[in-house]
Amino acid sequence: MRLSRAFLPTLKEVPADAQVASHIFLVRAGLMRRLAAGIYTFLPLGWRVLHNIEAIIRDEMNRAGAQEVLMPAAIPAELWQESGRWEKYGPELLRFSDRKGAKFCFGPTHEEVIVDLVRHDLKSYRDLPQNLYQIQSKFRDEMRPRAGLLRGREFIMKDAYSFDVSVSAAEASYRGMYAAYERIFSRAGLAFRVVEADTGAIGGSQSHEFQVLAESGEDTLVACDGCDYAANVEQAEVVAAAPLKSADGPLEKVATPGKKTIDEVAAFFGEEPARLIKTLIYMADGKAVAILCRGDRAVNEVAVKKLVGATELYLATDAQVTEATGAASGFAGPVGLAIPVYADRELEGTTGMIAGANETDFHLTGVKLARDAEVLAYAPVRMAEAGDLCPRCEKGHFEVLRGIEVGHVFLLGTRYSEPMKCTFLDEEGAQQPMVMGCYGIGITRIMAAAIEQNHDDDGIIWPLAIAPFAVEIVGLGADAEVASAAEELYAELLARGIEVLLDDRDERPGAKLKDADLIGIPLRVVIGKRSLKEGQLEV
Ligand code: ATP
Ligand code: MG
Repeated sequence: MRLSRAFLPTLKEVPADAQVASHIFLVRAGLMRRLAAGIYTFLPLGWRVLHNIEAIIRDEMNRAGAQEVLMPAAIPAELWQESGRWEKYGPELLRFSDRKGAKFCFGPTHEEVIVDLVRHDLKSYRDLPQNLYQIQSKFRDEMRPRAGLLRGREFIMKDAYSFDVSVSAAEASYRGMYAAYERIFSRAGLAFRVVEADTGAIGGSQSHEFQVLAESGEDTLVACDGCDYAANVEQAEVVAAAPLKSADGPLEKVATPGKKTIDEVAAFFGEEPARLIKTLIYMADGKAVAILCRGDRAVNEVAVKKLVGATELYLATDAQVTEATGAASGFAGPVGLAIPVYADRELEGTTGMIAGANETDFHLTGVKLARDAEVLAYAPVRMAEAGDLCPRCEKGHFEVLRGIEVGHVFLLGTRYSEPMKCTFLDEEGAQQPMVMGCYGIGITRIMAAAIEQNHDDDGIIWPLAIAPFAVEIVGLGADAEVASAAEELYAELLARGIEVLLDDRDERPGAKLKDADLIGIPLRVVIGKRSLKEGQLEV
């Protein structure tokens, strides 16, 4: 491609709405333009990158035995009502009606459509296994579209779905996809980690996330430095520290006016935050529950959700805290609470702890949970931290990493095939629900994640495998010999099937080199008048 003819509008200024590097550079280097919040047009350069990512994905999916299809983006509501998600999916689902008033949604994911396809055409164990995938634009009306392509509303996804006769056969499909994903992200030139992930409301089955490591990532990961255990922090198992014990004295109420935070209370008593019991009031499906953990720990809400069996969980408002505890927020404690109380395992057996008194401006000392409070269950609800002992090998320790989730593999089981009656006849002639897996990759998110991981102050540094061009030729100065040498090299590389960008614009050398730095083509050939005389090019 010749830059003089290309639609490649580079910008000097940082776009006003962009904070992260990938968003800034995708716009500045002329790869995409914003149409509306979280919705973008891809320009030629950006589209080339997406094509390269897709080519790797297609290659590996086909190699793993998956077959490409294309499903519609407009999905009739009936299918989503059948699976129960029309109600459950919430406002992320973009709903609309056709001229006759029939309801539709724009597909955010395609379990319903693929199940509908398969249940009509595959009937026997002889038809299975099947693995079908598509590459398509999805729409999710995200509450907070952010960081350009990292969390868009319309974005391109590869989604695959496997159908098997049994759990063990589905596990084999799952392992096949897992291996294909490892190859995809390696080939794309990305540093990534596979981590164990939350299985959400579906529960019980396996789930792994493929995370591109980057400081700007939304996800927090823990990885053991001694074995290969790694997990999303939401899912990470934790080892409980030995219970803290001090002199087993009586409960005492102490006035602590205005001391609300853990740090304020710890300082007031001259104790470590670990001596405090942190009492958080949550609303679990509308009902207040108290969750206790050590003062120096954070609560893992995903673990709490599972523990109390809630589908919706959020921290109580100040008013709800007062209603549940009778005190202002900041003075909640486990003693005498009338709502269900759950405690982190580390609090089991502790004595001489400090907790809120459920009375504004008072705390209790000498708290011994076993004696003073009614704890429904002790369970691991604290968040994993750097330095934690690894629960798997029990030798290594956790390090904390940040990641961008670019892929997700999920053993679904019969979550969709059962309610939607996607069944087959087994060898004995009995009807069985198919066992499913689903496997997503965020293609536009990969483009952004690659930039987050590979850039400097001046611009993008593309991994070769997904770069929009392999080589950029930059001829410096208005010199006929330089221009003809650049043309000659351009023609020769093209003839060899190499993707080349030729900067043949009538621009100052400084401007050309700045743009080259911004666009980030991995190999750059610079041709200058003086070096050319000496028979040299700069690569
Ligand atoms: P997240 O936790 O980031 O919202 P998710 O669990 O909703 O992701 P999945 O439903 O598993 O995501 O979707 C499969 C893949 O699609 C994700 O791994 C991610 O790469 C991509 N993806 C999901 N939501 C978005 C989005 N809003 N913008 C860009 N890519 C996305
Ligand atoms: Mg999401």
